[in-house]
Amino acid sequence: MTRAGFPPESERGRLSIGIAGAGLLGRLLAWQLGRAGHRVSVHDPAADAEPSFDGRQAAGFTAAGMLSPLAELDNSSAEVAALGWRSLALWRGIVAALRTRPACRTDGSLLLAHHSDLGAAQRVLARLAAAPPGTPQAEALPAGRLAQIEPSLQGAAHAWLLPQEGHIDTVAALRALHAEAPGVDWHWRSTVRAVEPGALVLADGGRPRFDLVFDVRGTGASPELPVRGVRGEMVWLHAADHGLTRPVRLLHPRHRVYLVPRAADTVLVGASEIESADRSPVSLRSAVELMAAAHSVMPALAEARIVRLDVNLRPALPDNEPRLDVAPGRVRINGLFRHGWLITPALVEDALQRCGLAEPLRPPETVHG
Ligand SMILES: Cc1cc2nc3c(=O)[nH]c(=O)nc-3n(C[C@H](O)[C@H](O)[C@H](O)COP(=O)(O)OP(=O)(O)OC[C@H]3O[C@@H](n4cnc5c(N)ncnc54)[C@H](O)[C@@H]3O)c2cc1C
Repeated sequence: MTRAGFPPESERGRLSIGIAGAGLLGRLLAWQLGRAGHRVSVHDPAADAEPSFDGRQAAGFTAAGMLSPLAELDNSSAEVAALGWRSLALWRGIVAALRTRPACRTDGSLLLAHHSDLGAAQRVLARLAAAPPGTPQAEALPAGRLAQIEPSLQGAAHAWLLPQEGHIDTVAALRALHAEAPGVDWHWRSTVRAVEPGALVLADGGRPRFDLVFDVRGTGASPELPVRGVRGEMVWLHAADHGLTRPVRLLHPRHRVYLVPRAADTVLVGASEIESADRSPVSLRSAVELMAAAHSVMPALAEARIVRLDVNLRPALPDNEPRLDVAPGRVRINGLFRHGWLITPALVEDALQRCGLAEPLRPPETVHG
């Protein structure tokens, strides 16, 4: 036996692999393992592969898709940031390999502060300056520069560019990973009650066996894992020709407010972060505060139309750090919290390498805008 008790590569052909959960992790795993020629079955309680926007879908659909290894240093570890920088390169390779090419840009994000929030901004920037040497640092934008690079942003007194950060269209990416995963059996309306080494225990009494299983059920892995849900609320706005090209964070006394462009006519505004597993609809207070903050730096949003208020739970472990457990017959990945899109490609690469299962994807030379 080799790494983590898996059979050596020479004895391995096409493996049968069971995946519990068809969210972000589940779809990326299925896509990569299917491409590597393994027989993959995915089980998920959702009705089908499409987002439902009812508070019960995969958190990956609700996410804004910010890829912010530098900004996330404000409230996460250096390990998360390192996974994030690796993942940014890996996303470029994944997107380039998908026929439908979900939008994914990595030309920086912006941090904005109103005059009264300069002190708070400086405290955040001091935390970001703890980034390891050699990684990009926040750059203060001189007056007038913001108007040149993002003319739709007006009203903020201070602005910084966080170079090389990015964002991805989460709904398009999840759709593409499902649609383009070769030979994968998707079992919808199939709840996994327990994940045992080499077997999935289904709610309908079935117990399919596999060479290897992945437990990537997010908040659905409770109580087998001590995972909790952290409520997050998002506003989808229709704003024709909004012109915004980069994600924007705005310092705010209560929320980590951000605006993320999604196509030429859609801007997402998020997100609350509430220690609660409440999946009920978005509160008036969160909606008002998020939209007022967004409008204060992007005045054109006054005429935007509210097309959707979305809510979901981020899967978080007690230390708010991601966890990858590799054991014979079973791999568990969970605790992606507010960074799932940021870190999933690197976590999946680590998981597959530790199982000796697939060649890591390498980013291509070209970058798609
Ligand atoms: C409001 C909000 C904004 C966010 N913004 C960002 C962002 O900008 N950038 C970023 O990097 N991250 C963001 N995130 C975090 C990111 O969405 C999550 O970290 C990520 O989706 C977690 O991936 P996952 O695959 O572990 O879980 P999920 O994507 O939630 O997928 C879990 C899947 O497991 C399925 N499942 C549940 N129970 C069972 C069961 N019993 N049996 C079988 N299947 C089951 C679910 O139906 C679901 O399909 C945000 C999250 C929220 C809520």
